[in-house]
Amino acid sequence: MRAAVLYAPKDLRIEPVAAAPLGPGEVEVRIEAGGICGSDLHYYFDGGFGTVRLREPMILGHEIAGTVARVGTDVASIAPGQRVAVNPSRPCGACRYCAEGKQQHCLDMRFYGSAMRFPHVQGGFREVLVCDATQAVPVPATMSAAQAAFAEPFAVCLHAVNRAGPLLGKRVLVTGAGPIGALTVIAARRAGALEIVATDVADPKSVANLFAKTKEKFGRLDVLFNNAGTGAPGTINLEDLTFEQWQSVVNTNLTGPFLCTQEAFKIMKAQSPMGGRIINNGSISAHVPRPNSAPYTSTKHAITGLTRSASLDGRKYNIACGQIDIGNAASGMAANMNAGMPQANGSIAPEPTMDVQDVARSVIFMASLPLDSNVQFMTVMATKMPFIGRG
Ligand SMILES: [Zn+2]
Ligand SMILES: [Zn+2]
Repeated sequence: MRAAVLYAPKDLRIEPVAAAPLGPGEVEVRIEAGGICGSDLHYYFDGGFGTVRLREPMILGHEIAGTVARVGTDVASIAPGQRVAVNPSRPCGACRYCAEGKQQHCLDMRFYGSAMRFPHVQGGFREVLVCDATQAVPVPATMSAAQAAFAEPFAVCLHAVNRAGPLLGKRVLVTGAGPIGALTVIAARRAGALEIVATDVADPKSVANLFAKTKEKFGRLDVLFNNAGTGAPGTINLEDLTFEQWQSVVNTNLTGPFLCTQEAFKIMKAQSPMGGRIINNGSISAHVPRPNSAPYTSTKHAITGLTRSASLDGRKYNIACGQIDIGNAASGMAANMNAGMPQANGSIAPEPTMDVQDVARSVIFMASLPLDSNVQFMTVMATKMPFIGRG
């Protein structure tokens, strides 16, 4: 049997691997289709993401589907010939979460094609996969293997839509129109959303479409909050960043807000009463960098320039532009701040965080002022985070 084995960044080999024996309670699936996830791309281009690094050769892939070839003893739920989507996560079945029936929070989850644990969990980009019968989810015969391979990423989008609450009759904006964004549009449609606009801030046509829809629907635009942001992996030294990594951060963090500002200007200067407010989400990185953050820090410094320019050039149209620089808000993205962040002196140390609600209150305050008052710059941060002070 052959598999797609990643040895190091950009060193992917299609090579023979030993087939696993078929045990009781297991099924053997002939893999027919696989989706390439963002994490697969991170392993391929960067050798991992965050603190998760490739430390031994690993078969990639976890968005997979195929047809059951053989079943082990005591498998009655599924028969050979059945087309299945494979659930890539296998909970331990023993920890306290598994005992409570909350397997998705398992403390010892095994996930295909993941370097999170060592030895790594080998993935599904292979000709034949032996998995637990409970992981092989039957799909209708009318569904192709390629469609079934969307089951895992689509599950992510269904979860996102559930988190958003009831969508029946609602208007939905999906920001970021990659595969997950596109699947989220489908999930939102299924949940009964009345109108869905998908946009990608780095794409001028997509941005123009978003603002055209806004004007068509609401007649005017009062506030633009430029919030989209991304960064390159903090594990890569400045001199080793690829051009693509640099460019993708510039596109999202700088070009995106600029394009949105342009479109907002056009609407705000033409409406009556004329004017509006633009709030840019800067960052503590608009003042000082974290280690290995050149693309992020450079673009966040640049946002300060965009704020000042828009503030000046907006005066004649009654457009107020301000910037909020946020430090260590406890959102899901900041989860590893409590675990430990790389410090300037090379050590790893946990950092204090602040309630994300306090950031929301700050933005609402900025947005609530009449247009003849403006918070030009606001820094809102965890009081004791390492920002003011040396070291
Ligand atoms: Zn995935
Ligand atoms: Zn568990």
